[in-house]
Amino acid sequence: MLKNTIIACLAAIFSMNAVNAMAVSHRHKLHHPSRGAHAIDRQAKAPHPFVVAIDAGHGGKDVGAIGPNGTYEKQVVYAISRKLENLIRQDANMKPVLVRKGDAFIGLQRRSEIARDAKADLFVSIHADAYQDGAVKGSSVFTLLNRKGRNGPSASTRKASNRAAAKILGEFRSQQHLHCRQVKRARYAVLKSQDVPSMLIETGFITNPQEERKLASQSHQEKLAHSIYNGIRAYARTASPKSAKPARFRHVILASR
Ligand SMILES: [Zn+2]
Repeated sequence: MLKNTIIACLAAIFSMNAVNAMAVSHRHKLHHPSRGAHAIDRQAKAPHPFVVAIDAGHGGKDVGAIGPNGTYEKQVVYAISRKLENLIRQDANMKPVLVRKGDAFIGLQRRSEIARDAKADLFVSIHADAYQDGAVKGSSVFTLLNRKGRNGPSASTRKASNRAAAKILGEFRSQQHLHCRQVKRARYAVLKSQDVPSMLIETGFITNPQEERKLASQSHQEKLAHSIYNGIRAYARTASPKSAKPARFRHVILASR
């Protein structure tokens, strides 16, 4: 990244509103005062749950970025992904699909295939950022920067990706440090799905010692998962799940595979 872009992004960093974050998680508890996780699990699922493919970045031989204190990106992003999976599982209107189950290596193309095969309505890839300057910090949300061509996502998929990414960035704005205030675009291979709206979330800079510590802590992982979940839920309310589309439309999709 160019140095002046970093400076522009740094200028945009918000201070962590810790009090607000605690108030929200407390409200959440109040909302379900007596329910344990098992009680919520037994809730009847909606006939057409909104399917979220959660892609924990890296895995297996690919450890991802490594923090100054030796924290592996693959481990923290998997922990955040599992927490997000739990939140989505407790939501009667949504269904989680973990793309990477455990510490396994999965190729980038295979990841979006798994999401498509699961008829995912949204693909969320979870990562931690890295930079040579240990002072750089904050979360970012990316969608695909795609060249005009035949293999990229359809216009409606791209629009949906940007809508969903904006919802999550909106949650981060009030709960997390932001590296950049806008949804960013990059040519990430994992975001090239034609028909599954996709985004990549950089949860923080693992190369920043302070953020490395936070990324490895259960409470911060929980906060990140909550912000991502709230953003997904806000987006899901505006989008009808694939499984709810008319059969005729589904048939057309299946025939084109
Ligand atoms: Zn990564």
